[in-house]
Amino acid sequence: MKRIRARLAAAGRVTRGLRFRLMLSYVLVYTVLLVAMGVVFRQTIGALLERRMREVVEEEWGAIKGYLRIERDISIWMYDSVDPEEAAIVEKLRRSFLLVTNLNGKIIEVSNSYRTLGVETPKEISQLLQLPQPQWTMRTDTRDEKVMVRSGTMVDGGKTYFLALGRSLGEDQGLPDRFARNYFAFLPAMIAVSGLLGWYTAGRALHPVIELAKTAQAVSSSNLNISIPTRGSGDELDHLIETFNKMMERLRSGIEQIRQFSTDVSHELRTPLTAIRGQLEVALFTAKTTENYKDAMVYALQDVERLSQIVRALLMLSQAESGQLPLLRQSVNLSTLTADIVDQFQIPAEEAKVDLMSEIPPECLVDGDRVQLERLLYNLLSNAIKYTGEGGSVKASLQTGEEWVELAVEDTGQGIPAEYLPHIFDRFYRVPGHNDPEKGLGLGLSFVAWIVKAHGGKIDVQSEAGKGTKFLILLPKPGEVASKETT
Ligand code: ADP
Repeated sequence: MKRIRARLAAAGRVTRGLRFRLMLSYVLVYTVLLVAMGVVFRQTIGALLERRMREVVEEEWGAIKGYLRIERDISIWMYDSVDPEEAAIVEKLRRSFLLVTNLNGKIIEVSNSYRTLGVETPKEISQLLQLPQPQWTMRTDTRDEKVMVRSGTMVDGGKTYFLALGRSLGEDQGLPDRFARNYFAFLPAMIAVSGLLGWYTAGRALHPVIELAKTAQAVSSSNLNISIPTRGSGDELDHLIETFNKMMERLRSGIEQIRQFSTDVSHELRTPLTAIRGQLEVALFTAKTTENYKDAMVYALQDVERLSQIVRALLMLSQAESGQLPLLRQSVNLSTLTADIVDQFQIPAEEAKVDLMSEIPPECLVDGDRVQLERLLYNLLSNAIKYTGEGGSVKASLQTGEEWVELAVEDTGQGIPAEYLPHIFDRFYRVPGHNDPEKGLGLGLSFVAWIVKAHGGKIDVQSEAGKGTKFLILLPKPGEVASKETT
C-alpha cells in the first residue's frame, strides 16, 4: 500500500513538472498538426483523382462526338473498320457507361453497364436537358462500384440529343480511404515519437534551470561562493543565470557586512566590558577605603555610559536603516539651523583653540527633518573641531543652487589619507593614527550618510592628510523631492 502511494506521489510529481507539461504541449501540437495534415492529404488525393477522372470522361465525350452519327433516332458508329485500333476504341466506348436518347427521352443507344446504373426516365432527361451546363454526378452500379457520370447535350445533323457518359472509379475508388487508414494507423507511432522528442527537447531546454535549482539548494550561509557559468547564448536562461549570480554576489556582500558588523560590535562592547570587570575586580580585592570603592564605581559607570551610548546609537542606526525611523519632513530654514548650531559650537571651539567661522546666506530652505538635520550638522562640526588642532580653523557655509542647497563643512585639520577615505562612513570605522582624545564611537559619519541618503541628497568628501577635510552635502530644495523620488 505504502509503495503504491509512493509511486502515485512520484507520478504526480512528474506530471506536475514543467518538463512533462512542455512535452504534453509538444505532443498536443504535433497531434493536431498530423491529424490536420492527414485530413488535408486525403482531401487532396480525392480531389486529384476526381479531376483526372473528369479529364478522361471529357476526352471520351469528345471521341463519341467524333464517331457517333444519329439518323432517324438510330445510332451509327462511323470509323475505319480496317483500322483495328479505331475499332477497339469504338468498341470500348460502346461498352462503357453510355446512354444516348433523343429530346423526348427515347433511347437511341444504351450500354449494358449503363443499365446497371439505372436509365433515367424521360422526365429526368428533360429536366437535365434544361440545365445550361453539363452535369457531373457520382452514381453507384449494382456491384457497388462508384461511377462518375457526365450528362449533357450533343448536337448531330442539326438535332440535339441527350448524352450520358460514365466511368467507373475502379481501383482508384478506395485510394483516399486506403491512404487515410494507413496514415491514421501509423499516427500513434508518430505521436509517440513526437512525445519522446518533446521529452528530450524539454529536458535539454530545462537543463540550466535544473542546474540553477540544484545550486540554489546547495546555498547556505557558509557556502556562498557559488556562481553558475553562463552558456554564452545570451538568451533568457543566460539572463536568469546572470541574475542569479548577481543575487548571490549581493547576498555574499550583505552577509559579509553582517559578519563584519557582528565582529565590530563584539569588539566594541568587549573593551568597556573588560575595563568594567577589571575595575570591579581590583576594587573587590584591593580597595580598602570607601574612597577606593567610589573611584572604582565612577570609572565603571563611565564605561557603562559608553556601553549604553554604543547600544543606543546602534539601535537607532539599525532602526534608521530598516526604515523604522521615518523622516518628519517639513520646509526647514537651513540658514537659521546652521547658524544656531555654529553658535552652540563656539565655546567648545574656543576651548580647542579652533577658529569657527560661517558663511550663511539667509533663507536657504530645504525639505527635511529638522532633528536629523541638526544631528547631521552636529556630527560634522564636532568631527571638524575634534580633528583640527590648535590654531586651525573650521568653516560652515551654505549656498543655494537651482535644485540643491549645498552645505560645506571644511577644516584645516589632520585630514584623511586617501586610502582610508572610502571607509569613513562604515560603522565603527576610525581612521588609524588619528589623534582623538575623546575616543569617538566611529558611528557619527554612518548617521550622516544615512541622513543624507534618507533626504535624497548627495555627499562628497575631499581631504588631504595634514591639510584638512571638506565635507560637501547636497540637499534637495522644497518641491525638488517629489521629482527626485520618482526618478
Ligand atoms: P568618530 O566618532 O570616531 O568621530 P565618525 O564616524 O564620526 O566617528 O568618523 C569616522 C572617522 O573619520 C573618525 O574616526 C576620523 O578618523 C575620521 N574623520 C571624521 N571627520 C573628520 C575630519 N573632519 N577630519 C579628519 N578626520 C575625520
